[in-house]
Amino acid sequence: MKLPLQIGITGGIGSGKSLVCKIFNVLGVPTYDADSRAKNLMTTDGILVNQIKKEFGSLSYTSEGVLNREYLSASVFSKPDKLEKLNSFVHPRVAVDFKQWVEKQVGNKYVLKEAALLFESGSYRTLDKVILVTAPEAMRIKRVLARDKHRTQADVENIISNQLSEEQKEMKADYIIRNDESELILPQVLELHERFNSLN
Ligand code: ATP
Repeated sequence: MKLPLQIGITGGIGSGKSLVCKIFNVLGVPTYDADSRAKNLMTTDGILVNQIKKEFGSLSYTSEGVLNREYLSASVFSKPDKLEKLNSFVHPRVAVDFKQWVEKQVGNKYVLKEAALLFESGSYRTLDKVILVTAPEAMRIKRVLARDKHRTQADVENIISNQLSEEQKEMKADYIIRNDESELILPQVLELHERFNSLN
């Protein structure tokens, strides 16, 4: 049986990519949330757990095997080489997990892989097409501050400064969904849905 087309969906923080994914999901499209799967695999994937313990120490996990996020965050905070190391462990394990997941989705025309850093991590190269969800920066900051009560404007600006610019992402994307509240999202999603269903 033929594997489904693998479509990436990305966008900066607060662009609305999760919201767009929910719409695709309602249309029956299977979606893989790479960021939440990565968090899960950091506790459940034996290979990854061992790599993290070896690099960052056994304190990275509690005696019950729960990931000690505070300890790990402190270990990589403001240390780009450590963060890069952690990502170099996580990304290949997510890639394996995604591949296994895709194999279970035969019978679907296409599936979506949602990740905030699809371009930055390089994992977009393994996908057939990539959708970028965009919105102006001020709007994204406003949305995130309304959604995440624990975050300050400086936190959000810091995250944005570590992501590729909208212009750089637009150049790499195959399709763009504008979620700037001047265009409706639903017709844009439906157009892509028809397009992907007619590809392959
Ligand atoms: P993150 O990278 O932080 O996961 P995201 O790109 O997945 O962000 P969402 O969580 O989908 O973004 O959207 C951010 C917030 O903005 C959510 O609370 C969402 O409901 C809201 N939002 C998104 N798009 C719109 C819109 N067009 N109109 C109103 N609110 C919106």
